[in-house]
Amino acid sequence: MQNLMFPAPKLQVLPIVTEAVVYPVNRIFCVGRNYAAHAAEMGGEVDREAPWYFTKSAQALCQSGATVPYPPGTSNYHYEMELVVALGQPAFRVDTGRALDAVYGYACGLDMTRRDRQQDGKDARRPWSLGKDVENSAVIGAITPRAHFGSIDAQRIALTVNNEIKQDAHLTDMVWSVAEIISHLSGYYHLQAGDLIMTGTPAGVGPVVAGDVINGTITGLSDVRLHLSDAE
Ligand code: MN
Repeated sequence: MQNLMFPAPKLQVLPIVTEAVVYPVNRIFCVGRNYAAHAAEMGGEVDREAPWYFTKSAQALCQSGATVPYPPGTSNYHYEMELVVALGQPAFRVDTGRALDAVYGYACGLDMTRRDRQQDGKDARRPWSLGKDVENSAVIGAITPRAHFGSIDAQRIALTVNNEIKQDAHLTDMVWSVAEIISHLSGYYHLQAGDLIMTGTPAGVGPVVAGDVINGTITGLSDVRLHLSDAE
């Protein structure tokens, strides 16, 4: 092994509810506008031609239960509650019938977003990195194996801020199914174990401020929780 000039970046991992081992995280893919009611509230509509994506770096991962500072460079930081798919097998050019074979499990996730910086990008037709690839912005709970969760159906997906309900929908409201997303994405990437897919948020997104506690739930999964402290 070569001597490293400085310590390598931290390996990001997630707990698994039924296992002592942890899940090493590779890439984080995120689906845009996957619930019609959310697309409408963002001033757009769902494009049924194909799903589309943005990414967050693995170093943006934040453990559920953490307390993190309100991020710099925004005055409109938003929550987005999402189902997270954790892959456990490679997938490349798979059809929808085989796509779920690649899924190890599912988790609750928050796609935290600088909405003002995302809007800057939309207005200027520039990338969303400052809006989406925010430090500590991929908040993800413990993974539940697919065998324990069962099939994706009308499980409730919901989010509260300071115990007040803000988002409340069902996984059947997703425009693109998990199998369709994996099949499509596998046409562009050699997907592999450790890759996470955040599958989009229902309607009801909104801002948070320092001091807020955000809690997201999906029936059958371990919840996700974030506490925002004062800015640093
Ligand atoms: Mn999102």
